[in-house]
Amino acid sequence: MSSRISLQETGNLLLQAQKIVLCCHVSPDGDTLGSALGLMHILSRLGKDVTVFVDDEIGRGFGFLPGIEHCRRPEADSKVQADVLAVIDASSFDRVGIVGEVVQAPFVLNIDHHISNTEFADYLYLDTAAAATGEIICDLFEEMQWQHDEATALCLYTAISTDCGSFRYSNTTRKTMQRAALLLDYGVQPSIISDNLDMRTRETVELLSKVLPTLTFAFENKVAYISIAHELYNKDIQTDSFVSYPRYIEGVDIAIMFKAVEEKVTRVSMRSSHTDVAQIALSFGGGGHLRAAGCTIYAPLEEAQKQLLEAIRKVL
Ligand code: 5GP
Ligand code: MN
Repeated sequence: MSSRISLQETGNLLLQAQKIVLCCHVSPDGDTLGSALGLMHILSRLGKDVTVFVDDEIGRGFGFLPGIEHCRRPEADSKVQADVLAVIDASSFDRVGIVGEVVQAPFVLNIDHHISNTEFADYLYLDTAAAATGEIICDLFEEMQWQHDEATALCLYTAISTDCGSFRYSNTTRKTMQRAALLLDYGVQPSIISDNLDMRTRETVELLSKVLPTLTFAFENKVAYISIAHELYNKDIQTDSFVSYPRYIEGVDIAIMFKAVEEKVTRVSMRSSHTDVAQIALSFGGGGHLRAAGCTIYAPLEEAQKQLLEAIRKVL
């Protein structure tokens, strides 16, 4: 169990530290990267020695984020001493990769918004009503009276915009929009960020054309899924947007993308209109939000499909 702390206490834990390691989750998205980089900018400005670790490849599309060049991948067998390890936007410790072994710090602080948070950290600031961890970081700026600049605003706007689907998803609240609106005062141009986030490589679209024919329906069309067979899988090709194709089909409640990242390892992304998919993901050791969740199933593609559909049958 974590000790649940206030925003003020969260800010103070960071201010009391000198050497700070910020850690993003694996399969890094705009929320974990933007939130960590926004924090990195302000903490560096406050004189802290800040390292940002991501134990994964970072999509080329995030190259526009100010400070992204400072994100480092931890080296196995190396050791890094810090006063605090702050895990940003990750709901369970497996999501930090090897950062947990590399970083030696007296305590772990977790700032997160996932309903499936496993309370792995010593100290936790969790706000499940926040559409994005970026929204929480904006709250933290306000609470601590930290001033934004163009870099923090761009990073945090990207974080917020990513997780609420550019203010379209059901997690979008008045506060989500207010936070984002405030960031526009520091020079953020929404169209430029959405152009960056929506930009796809030719390889992504070509892969999509091979993946769409796998579209399959189940449970009277309430479930729709697409699959990336291991032969087609390429870790360098972004596929995050693919799940929106089964998602936006009339009558579909649960949309799934299966990705055979190894012969016997299948990554699962779920989106839903009604059903709590975080619960389903948790039952496979994953997690996420009510309407967007994911997990890894340690089985070949077809076996993973069978297992997940069986779990869905029980909740539908
Ligand atoms: P996505 O499908 O975009 O990878 O993930 C959707 C949501 O579920 C995100 O909030 C993400 O952080 C969470 N998520 C995805 N995969 C996992 C996982 O394996 N473990 C946990 N704890 N959360 C996950
Ligand atoms: Mn998030």
